[in-house]
Amino acid sequence: MERVFNFAPGPSALPLSVLERAQQEMTCCSGSGMSVMEMSHRSPAYQAIYDDAVARLRALMHIPEEYAVLFMHGGATMEFSAVPLNLSIKGKADYIDSGNFAHVAAEEAKKYTSVNIVASSRADGYTYVPEWKGRLSADADYVHITTNNTIYGTRYTALPETGAVPLVADMSSNILSEPYDVMRFGVIYAGAQKNIGPSGVAVLIVRRDLLGHAAPQCPKLLDWVLQEKNGSMINTPNTWAIYLCGLCLEWLQSMGGVESIEKTNIEKAAMLYDFLDESRLFKPTAQKEFRSRMNVTFVTGSAETDARFVQEAKAVGLVNLKGHRSVGGMRASIYNAMPVEGVEALVAFMKKFEAAC
Ligand code: PMP
Repeated sequence: MERVFNFAPGPSALPLSVLERAQQEMTCCSGSGMSVMEMSHRSPAYQAIYDDAVARLRALMHIPEEYAVLFMHGGATMEFSAVPLNLSIKGKADYIDSGNFAHVAAEEAKKYTSVNIVASSRADGYTYVPEWKGRLSADADYVHITTNNTIYGTRYTALPETGAVPLVADMSSNILSEPYDVMRFGVIYAGAQKNIGPSGVAVLIVRRDLLGHAAPQCPKLLDWVLQEKNGSMINTPNTWAIYLCGLCLEWLQSMGGVESIEKTNIEKAAMLYDFLDESRLFKPTAQKEFRSRMNVTFVTGSAETDARFVQEAKAVGLVNLKGHRSVGGMRASIYNAMPVEGVEALVAFMKKFEAAC
């Protein structure tokens, strides 16, 4: 069977070369005579795979030594809890509510700290990133943002200036798609299933001076200090997923790294938005200034036409274009692994569909 162009929001398309390599190494990984899934996580062979993945992420994001890099269980959602459990000293935190996951992160944090929603675009359907300037508290433990809003297709075009207050970012849906200065952040975390690898694990980048404040009730698997001390191996990690993350990171390096893929990502997003801006049938939903380069959201204005579009696109191998169930419409997720040809095929199909309408 032919492979399709998969526009899924996550789990999402992985580079074909990564899948083929994993297939080749499925029964004998790194000359060990076994699959990575059969290796002891305490073995030198697996340790080398883990160290390699961490080193590649450090190189790709230019992560300085004063930051720890960890692989955590439970995806980004687990870090929604881990953030307040590890960073609460004064017991208050600022959250910017720019989308569903930002909202969920704040709701989860309320169990452990006093949450101040400094700005929200919820009432306007999250079509933009709300203005935070002049609204941040000087004495918060941290400020939490979501750099790319996966469901609504918006992104931060500038980062809040938080002074001495650590900036914490959920980068799940745009990590490694554009360069970020890690030093601007106290903490970066991301579920792996968009630009890093398979689902179920999260990457955590934390400035070391912020470590050591875990709440007494913090479960040990969420305690960043303990995970750091144990090389993300307090218990048995998801070795298979971390191995695949390493392969994806190696692939990204072979593509020229983040600086290079950003150019392709800008090009891919522009192809779609340029068409949407002149289309008489399709309308982009995010405010222009805040358009995501990873998740392009659009509608026709008719739920019936939207459904027909999604179905007909699927029939020609352009799959998973249905918008999130909470907003409807369409969403083309075009993460790093989506080739330019996939976006070209989508735009060509949209033109054809429009002409026939
Ligand atoms: N944050 C963002 C921005 C996301 O897009 C997602 C998942 N789509 C999550 C958090 C939740 O991630 P996970 O399913 O890995 O917990």
